[in-house]
Amino acid sequence: MAAVCGWGLLAPFGGRLLAGQRGPLLSRAAATAAAPLYDVVVSGGGMVGSAMAAVLGHDIHFHDKKIALLEAGPRKEYNYVPDTYSNRVSSISPGSATLLSNRVEVFYGSRAVGYTWPLPSHSCGTSPWVQIELADGRRLQAKLLIGADGHNSVVRKEAELKNIEHQYDQSAVVATLHLSEATNNNVAWQRFLPTGPIALLPLSDTASSLVWSTSHEHASELLTMDEESFVDSINSAFWSNVNHSDFIDTAGAMFRSALSFLRPSGSAVRQLPPSIAKVDPESRAMFPLGMGHATEYVQHRVALIGDAAHRVHPLAGQGVNLGFGDIACLAHHLSAAAFNGNDLGSLKHLLKFETERQRHNVSLIAAIDVLKRLYSTKLAPLVLLRTWGLQATNALPPVKEQIMAIASK
Ligand SMILES: Cc1cc2nc3c(=O)[nH]c(=O)nc-3n(C[C@H](O)[C@H](O)[C@H](O)COP(=O)(O)OP(=O)(O)OC[C@H]3O[C@@H](n4cnc5c(N)ncnc54)[C@H](O)[C@@H]3O)c2cc1C
Repeated sequence: MAAVCGWGLLAPFGGRLLAGQRGPLLSRAAATAAAPLYDVVVSGGGMVGSAMAAVLGHDIHFHDKKIALLEAGPRKEYNYVPDTYSNRVSSISPGSATLLSNRVEVFYGSRAVGYTWPLPSHSCGTSPWVQIELADGRRLQAKLLIGADGHNSVVRKEAELKNIEHQYDQSAVVATLHLSEATNNNVAWQRFLPTGPIALLPLSDTASSLVWSTSHEHASELLTMDEESFVDSINSAFWSNVNHSDFIDTAGAMFRSALSFLRPSGSAVRQLPPSIAKVDPESRAMFPLGMGHATEYVQHRVALIGDAAHRVHPLAGQGVNLGFGDIACLAHHLSAAAFNGNDLGSLKHLLKFETERQRHNVSLIAAIDVLKRLYSTKLAPLVLLRTWGLQATNALPPVKEQIMAIASK
């Protein structure tokens, strides 16, 4: 983390330019006067950053606080319900959905390009606040900077918070799909293929969202093939038996019938995935997949949330839900700090947030990573193990409910 001592050498945004480079040198007083001071600046207005700002903006203990939300992208006007669905759809857990009912002031088209960090002990005339430089030259100061700027987080990198990361050998192809016929489309479907899982998330009675994780080469093919071949590929990925093994199927069926006495009679629900007729032409896109976890979520006057702090494979649909869990936890501690008149950027309560969230997130991230690896293997004993594990989980409601409870926190 770069901390600066002595404002005489600083360019307008606190030390980004060195003496000898072009750019006016400002006195500490002039630089501070030029940059408005916020209690909290959230950098990144994706789902997580927007919700974080909204939650703080509506917290009664923040009524006298100044909050800014910086978003690099342009403002999206939604005066009407769009005709088409976005190709990035997330399954939001019930706990997460309640957070989204609020909205706050946002600075769109405002990319943060540099940060200067204060020293923990305010000394040698340095600014006590985080200095934020925007791409267009504007500057802000924050008592607390919340990094919600996604898995390539500039906040995380500039704060030198270590990130453990791994690129998967997969990319996800996403698209908005139209069903062959209108149906009571309220179930999310996922099928695990040797190359990766394919999932359909329901959008309406006639549309679903596709997330197909597969090898990079196959993903590139899916992205460029004509619409008819793309639709055929999706339907056959869900319906084809080509990847089935007779041995695994037989062993699975035997185990299922052995477990059937655990399930109350008549409770089995048998449904089939919907068949696809068309794809929204502009909706097909591809995202490389990886996992990542920041070993520290906080530093003096800085906290990371959402994908800036952790990135997971989409197979469990947990990415943004983990981020909403961060919000609830951080907002709780910040609200208490504001109520008690404490410094919002103090490590004292930021560390409580870090401990609580890492305790929750690390186990879930590890479990998702294990699932990804377990479903990437063709080794018969492991395939059998996961088949039985899934069937046992399905047949034992308490186990299933426990897993769902952990995932929805
Ligand atoms: C294919 C796919 C499917 C998924 N499906 C699910 C699912 O079903 N359920 C689920 O829970 N999760 C899912 N996820 C994960 C989910 O999309 C992410 O966890 C979530 O989008 C992370 O939100 P975020 O706000 O933290 O980051 P992002 O969505 O990455 O948002 C970061 C924001 O910060 C802005 N930004 C970046 N840098 C700067 C800067 N320097 N200055 C200002 N602004 C900046 C960006 O413009 C962006 O708007 C999926 C992910 C993928 C790839």
